Amino acid sequence: MTPWMDDDLCERRRRGLYRRRRPIVSTAGVRVVLRGREFLSFASNDYLNLATDARLARAAARAARHYGCGAGASPLVSGHLPPHRALERALARWEGTESALVLSSGFAANLALVGTLADRGDAVFSDELNHASLIDGCRLSRAAVHVYRHADANHLHDLLGREGRAARRRLIVSDTVFSMDGDCAPLAALLDLARRHDCMLLIDEAHATGVLGEHGRGLTDLLPAGTPVDDCLVKMGTLSKALGSQGGFVCGRRLLIDWLVNHARPYIFSTALAPPCAAAARRAVGVVQEEPVRRQRLLGLSAYLREQLRGAGRPVGRVCCQIVPVIVGDARGAMELSARLEERGLLVPAIRPPSVPEGTARLRISLTAGHTEEDVGRLLDALSRAGPACRTGTSADG
Ligand code: PMP
Repeated sequence: MTPWMDDDLCERRRRGLYRRRRPIVSTAGVRVVLRGREFLSFASNDYLNLATDARLARAAARAARHYGCGAGASPLVSGHLPPHRALERALARWEGTESALVLSSGFAANLALVGTLADRGDAVFSDELNHASLIDGCRLSRAAVHVYRHADANHLHDLLGREGRAARRRLIVSDTVFSMDGDCAPLAALLDLARRHDCMLLIDEAHATGVLGEHGRGLTDLLPAGTPVDDCLVKMGTLSKALGSQGGFVCGRRLLIDWLVNHARPYIFSTALAPPCAAAARRAVGVVQEEPVRRQRLLGLSAYLREQLRGAGRPVGRVCCQIVPVIVGDARGAMELSARLEERGLLVPAIRPPSVPEGTARLRISLTAGHTEEDVGRLLDALSRAGPACRTGTSADG
């Protein structure tokens, strides 16, 4: 191994930041087998418990037989197949937009969006806790990037006034549900600022798609009635979390989708999403609409977990959904707490810098519709026995 790689990995081990993959051997929803033992997992983003659903598996198998396991080429060459078109139509219908575009991952969708909506001479305004794919999209765009304090619309307003005027175009980017904190962006305020400052607003609904809102479309479903949502809003989501498959999507006006097809390099120069994933996601879009009980159960369970944590003297701050962080602080402490839960048969991943800010290493509890109140009880019991000083809530709570 080249010495600089060795040095880096040694340093990571020393600081408790070394990453390794878990050799999971089988998974059936929230029960996973690892090293010959069954664990109860709170580590998956399969929020609606659809990744192992037989209906999705059948749709995927059918598509594999008809169209192959791989799309064979990028969408503009020969990879844009019937399962992709059916999925895009279903997404646009569900989201109530003119059009939709499917990419090979949510990460690629964000690179494509930020990389094409902003360019040199433009300004991007980005929440400090945005997902890595939005951050990398900002870097790719070559625009000036201004980072505002987490979910702080006043700070954003100041920055727009100070830094936005000279820019040719302005773009605000934000997760709607923050993946490591479980809190929500102030979406109505962001929309209002976007309109007042003549900006586009790109929102990433990765952790809200399928989960939030009457129709499961995400935080946009929870906007107060009458909130004007116009052309300034661009919305993306991923097929890899609540929809139980793989891939990313963008929905919006036909003009936007046409623009992306013509300019977005992660779309143009990458093989189209595998047809079985497109078919499974298409089926999942149907299930999400037919079975609202899944998200209702999930949100009910999430409220129960938060209530129990509060009752046990662990405030949960602004956490509003199925993701609940337990902040430990130090990376080694988070790893130790995760290991103690693992000894008790529970998988709750430790999240360390750079995935979260320095000093806010944490456990990330992720609930799914496959968990029961008994499962949550087991987690709470294990936490109370295993947990040293740690707190729940978002990293922005202090
Ligand atoms: N956005 C957010 C907020 C995410 O959390 C993730 C994945 N963790 C992505 C985008 C990327 O999505 P995908 O896994 O489909 O590439």
